[in-house]
Amino acid sequence: MTPERMFQDLLGLGLNWEVIESRFDHKTSTVVLEMRETSRLWDLESCPCDGGSVYCYDHTEEIVWRHLNVFQHRCEIHCRLPRKKCRKCEKIHRVRPPWEGLSGHFSKEFESFALVLIREMPMAKAAHVMGESDTRLWRLLFKHVDGAYGLADFSNVCCVGVDEMNIRKGHEYVSVFADLIAKRVLFATEGRDRKTWDKFVEALENHNGHRHAITQASMDMSAAYQRGVADNCRNAQVVFDKFHLIANVTKAVDKVRQAEVRSSKKEVWDQLKNSLWIWRKNPENLTEKERAHLSQMDQENLCTAKAYQMRLCLQDIYRLGNQNQARRSLLAWCRWVRWIAKKYKAFLFAPMLKAAQMVETHLAGILAHWKLGVTNAFMEGLNSVFSATKRKARGYRSSVYLITMLYLVAGKLRLPHS
Ligand SMILES: [Zn+2]
Repeated sequence: MTPERMFQDLLGLGLNWEVIESRFDHKTSTVVLEMRETSRLWDLESCPCDGGSVYCYDHTEEIVWRHLNVFQHRCEIHCRLPRKKCRKCEKIHRVRPPWEGLSGHFSKEFESFALVLIREMPMAKAAHVMGESDTRLWRLLFKHVDGAYGLADFSNVCCVGVDEMNIRKGHEYVSVFADLIAKRVLFATEGRDRKTWDKFVEALENHNGHRHAITQASMDMSAAYQRGVADNCRNAQVVFDKFHLIANVTKAVDKVRQAEVRSSKKEVWDQLKNSLWIWRKNPENLTEKERAHLSQMDQENLCTAKAYQMRLCLQDIYRLGNQNQARRSLLAWCRWVRWIAKKYKAFLFAPMLKAAQMVETHLAGILAHWKLGVTNAFMEGLNSVFSATKRKARGYRSSVYLITMLYLVAGKLRLPHS
């Protein structure tokens, strides 16, 4: 068996294409396979416009595709592709060879392998491992993700969650919409205003979904998102998800701690020093050292400790089984916060008072958590999805790169697309 014949078998080319020469270029350490079509190709080819019969018109200049390595050596397929002309409409088309991937530079097998690597590691590293430029790998990823996303079906979508991902610290944002039941990212777009909902609904309906099929919209308490839902989805019950509410109150505890540190004597300052993470965690997640630190503090008189208790109580309310109990407990919680604030130092508790007011004004949306009972776990999971996405797209902070990577990581798309 000649090497050409062997490569032809290994590539699975069938009878329409043949390897006419294989050589190893020592200088570039590259295996080069020269291909050509056989006469049998013309039995199968037809015009893509009208199916008319075609004949070989001419050949292109030589085109190069990168294929999977042969051992440790780079491998390239070289071919002057035939161009076909239709006898009916007389249009001329390039014949698409069976090895060609979507991005033009690579074989299908190379692209599939690259996608596996891109899923597993940051883009820069995947480019290094494959010995390719990151620009060409990004182009490959765009082609596959765009193609597969175009075919994605949103017809069953009824419970949606929206959250924001920051692109650069404190600056630009991307709004991310997710299907809470199928646990996948549906859509992402720049900004975090109410117009992002208009764009989402447009994307939803482009993929066979319907705006009035949305019965639940989970989100943080941003007024912009609330307006967006109200404008677009009349059947959607807004749910302020537990994750964002608790995160808000945790931030308020932080502020109480900062204010108390600033306004108190040295002994209070000594107790609160290095305690930031204690108040952000739940008691069961504290380390041995943190637990010891906490038990040494004067829980009776520290406002921070009281604010921390308020946060833990609010979390406990989420364990209650029904909406009525939850309503009573939430309102009691608000009264309790006000009473403590009045009894101790109201100015230190200002962030907690604000939190209590927020709970009262958003009560219906918070209570929807009990009525709908749909798990919001995916909303909380989105945060780790965001960090994974940013890690993989490190160095490419433009929203197009991030959104494409997000669809790869969490869009549940069918890849590779062909
Ligand atoms: Zn034609």
